[in-house]
Amino acid sequence: MKITIHTEKCLSCGMCASIAPELFSLYTGIVTLKREDTTYTEEDKKLATEAAAACPNNVIEIAK
Ligand code: SF4
Repeated sequence: MKITIHTEKCLSCGMCASIAPELFSLYTGIVTLKREDTTYTEEDKKLATEAAAACPNNVIEIAK
């Protein structure tokens, strides 16, 4: 799984970091990925998909 964040569209709402705090961080209002894709667990994948679905501006792109 690969996570791409289109930060230019981010609204800094914090929803992704709230759903998957191990993956997403909102440092100084800019969303960033906290870990490399080689370390993702099955639970991470589930939470990342959930966060992407909840993002109000479709900022998070998940590729299988
Ligand atoms: S849920 Fe979407 S808009 Fe909100 S902080 Fe995360 S990436 Fe940005």
